[in-house]
Parts: sequence; C-alpha cells; structure tokens
Amino acid sequence: MKIIKKREKSKLLIGLNYLDKRTKLNDADKRYLISLEKGFEGEERFDALVKTHLNSEALVVNDLLIESKGNTFQIDALIVTFDTIYLYEIKNYKGDFQMNSGQLSYTSGQEITNPLIQLKRTKELLRQLLKDWGMPYRIEAHIVFINDAFTLYNASLEDPIIFPTQLKEHLGGINARCRNLTKQANHLANKLVDRHQINSLFHKQLPSYRFEDLRTGASCPCGSFDLMITQRACYCKTCYKQMSIEELVLESVKELKHLFPDEKLTTALVNDFCGQDVYYRKIRSILQNNFSVQGTTQGAFYK
Ligand SMILES: [Zn+2]
Repeated sequence: MKIIKKREKSKLLIGLNYLDKRTKLNDADKRYLISLEKGFEGEERFDALVKTHLNSEALVVNDLLIESKGNTFQIDALIVTFDTIYLYEIKNYKGDFQMNSGQLSYTSGQEITNPLIQLKRTKELLRQLLKDWGMPYRIEAHIVFINDAFTLYNASLEDPIIFPTQLKEHLGGINARCRNLTKQANHLANKLVDRHQINSLFHKQLPSYRFEDLRTGASCPCGSFDLMITQRACYCKTCYKQMSIEELVLESVKELKHLFPDEKLTTALVNDFCGQDVYYRKIRSILQNNFSVQGTTQGAFYK
C-alpha cells in the first residue's frame, strides 16, 4: 500500500481553530468547529486502520476536492487497485440512529442529511470524470461509519454501508482481490491528485473577524498563550513544548497569513500580533532570515 496523498486539516478547520483561540466564537460556530474536529478525528481513525490492514498493492488518495464541468465534489478517501476504485465517505457519528424510507434520523426523531444521497452524487460525478478521461474504472462506493459507539437501526442489506466491526474484513477483501498495480492505475491516482483544488473560498465560510478584535500574543501550536519566553527559547506551560523564538514567531506568521492573506507582512504587523511578547528587533531579524524583503525601507514588507 502506498499513500499518494496524505490527509491534512482543512483550511477552514485551521482557520476556525485560530479564531477559537483569539476570539469568542458564537455557539453555532463553536458547534461547527467541534463537528469538523470530530469528522477529522474519524478520518484519521480510518487512515490508521487502512495503514494497519491494507497490505496489498494499492494506492491511497485522501481528501480530494474536485471540480468538473461546474460541479464540485469532495472525496474523503480513495483506494485505487489494478481494476477498481474504492470510494469512501467517512462519518464519525455517535449514538443511535434509524433509517426510514431513505431518511436518516436519530432514534429521538431529529433528522439529518442522509450521507447515502451525497455518496451517490459523488460516485456519479467521479464516474463521469473517469469516462471523460477514457479510464472507465469500476467504482465501489461506501459510507464508513467509523465510530464504535454508532448504531443504525433499520439499515437495508443493500445499502453500501461499512460498520466499524466490518472495516477490517472489508480491507482484507481488497487484499484478497488485489493483483499487481498497472501503470494505468498509477497514472489515474496521480491524475486525480493533480485535479485536486485548494479550497480558496474558506475565508467566506469563516465567521467575520477584524484584526483589532483578535486577542494578541504569541501562542503555542497547541493553542495556549501561557508561555515562558526567555532570550533564546520559549516553553509552553500547557503542553510543555519547547520552541526557539524563531519557531514561535514563524508560528504567528503562519497564523497571520492564514487569517489575513491580503495584509502585507511587516515587522510592525507581526509585532502587533505577538502583542509585545517578542522584541521588535528580534522579529525583524527573523523575518529577514526567512522571507525576502520587498519595497523600500519605509514601506518594506516580507514575502
Ligand atoms: Zn503548547
């Protein structure tokens, strides 16, 4: 098994995490953040099981956002073998659910979007794309309910669902069917990765924020502002991570660029963002060492 594209946190999730530590998110945004975090955890759990149990010649492609003929679709995970593409939509739902005439709901009654409908659409759009490429691969699509504490009543045997107790056996089945990978399979996996789009619209999905409303201060990647900063190093009192001042400042720069991609990166801006936690001169020299200077001394900024 070879991973062609590994999973990363989405830009939206990273942005929400930054805002969560620097502002007070409203309840709806906070709930959304938690659901994205849970979804990501579920996907990582799926990845770990694939790593453990898929040991045949197969290519794994995670997390694709593809646009084709005006339609955008998102794929959680793909396994490409010599003759089949296995497509997975991963759900980390927890609790008791029921399926009634195509409608998914909690047993308490609250309805939720049925992922089987989304899966059908994704499969069809992928099928069309492969057809356009002249690569009519067989596609097998499944919903994976990854959480051990998930129960579904009234599911139909025909529904393409994989429950937590079945995933190991499912992957074993792929191992058993696998033959040597062909050039075409490799080509196809790479073509899909090339087609992946970076979500450049994530800012529109974030709640609105302004620089002056954000909590300032250097912070640890764990999210804590509780740092002990000396001349040379910095210690996080929450997770005990030790970082150089350079790493600390670059972490802030990463956050700034994520939240304010259109702002010019200046020493003053980074200094404001770090809230006087690091000496101005130190910030300037770190920016000089890691970025190239643009513009004149007066209006100098870094890229
Ligand atoms: Zn920390």
